[in-house]
Amino acid sequence: MISTELTINFPRLQKDLREISAIGMGKNRGVYRQAFTENDLQARNWLIEKISEAGLELKVDGAANIIARYVSNETKRPSILIGSHIDSVPAAGTLDGTLGVLTGLEVLRSLKENNVQLEYPVELASFSDEEGRFGGLFGSQSFIGRVTPESIHNAKDLSGTTLIEAMENCGYDAMQALNARRTPESILCYLELHIEQGPVLDSLRIPLGVVSKISGLFKWKISLIGRADHAGTTPMNMRADALAGLSEFIVEIPRLLEENGNENSVMTVGKVELHPGVANSVPGRVEFSIDARSTEKDILHEMNEAARKTLSAIARRRKLMFEFQILSEVEPVDCDQEIISTIRESISEMNTEFHELPSGAAHDAQILAHITPVGMIFVPSKDGRSHSPAEWTDWDHMRLGAEALLKTVCKISEKNKNKLQENHYG
Ligand SMILES: [Zn+2]
Repeated sequence: MISTELTINFPRLQKDLREISAIGMGKNRGVYRQAFTENDLQARNWLIEKISEAGLELKVDGAANIIARYVSNETKRPSILIGSHIDSVPAAGTLDGTLGVLTGLEVLRSLKENNVQLEYPVELASFSDEEGRFGGLFGSQSFIGRVTPESIHNAKDLSGTTLIEAMENCGYDAMQALNARRTPESILCYLELHIEQGPVLDSLRIPLGVVSKISGLFKWKISLIGRADHAGTTPMNMRADALAGLSEFIVEIPRLLEENGNENSVMTVGKVELHPGVANSVPGRVEFSIDARSTEKDILHEMNEAARKTLSAIARRRKLMFEFQILSEVEPVDCDQEIISTIRESISEMNTEFHELPSGAAHDAQILAHITPVGMIFVPSKDGRSHSPAEWTDWDHMRLGAEALLKTVCKISEKNKNKLQENHYG
């Protein structure tokens, strides 16, 4: 039986967070720990040291994912896996990903210190390059066997540094990522605690969130091509103005979502480049991004169709050409119903309020969902701020999140006791 007294060592978690936050902290209070940089390497070494100090089993796999393991009972059974990431975007906050890894570490340490006997091993994975210096979710993609020699060879960052070079500088062989694959049979389920990165929980003043679904997305790079002409001599009705075409598209977005989306659908034009981009020329060419997200696969598909149709109608009417390139497409996933109810039970037993909500941001959990049931716990982000030094969560909410994670792990082990006889994992 699991003691109800079991809890995490919160002062230790606070100390860990302060220590790792100092690694890669810039003058503007932003964190710079992009994957496979000097700062990332320093944070990796810090984490490896903490895992060793705790006396947990340690492994660094071929994708440089750092994995800790606590086994109390039968080693051959599949693991309850906790994961997230410690790499960051440039000028990031201190919590995105990192809080999930540190709470996971704290859960493993608490289990070990209290010698808690569980039916399943518990693992913690700190996944490489979640934030996408080299495209995104490299560590978790490798973990489920979704990388190829070509994808590893072709991965480059914005400045042209290859993944192979960057990993080599940190002492890793990128090609080994092909050996990082874990079988579905080796994992019972996946749990991730993460900051919400949006304003919902904070505005409701609710300390914990249970994630129902994780949004999928499509990201395109589009060029609308018209004709650059003299801004003084070309009559309005004789222009092929590419920016006017884009403006019309942006105005159409709310209608497009009303007709084809649902309440969790969003679409953003976040990056625009104008050519020639001078005051006295008609814009001949505009290059821009579309980032569209939804929690439902069918709806995301309809949004995709509608965006294409709208763009081509505008292009036809305004005598523009249009080219587009798909940068990424990720399918939405549902969190597992059984895990959702286990998390809900855990939080209820803590007499804490929670709210069920979808995740608008992508997470490693989305990738793991291809091979195992997943569940996520959110803690509130102050004013919804994230990917910014302003990112923060109340200490109290962090403590509650870590406790809910620990409780959930124990409950999952307990609930799956019966499945052992059915499945013969051992
Ligand atoms: Zn993250």
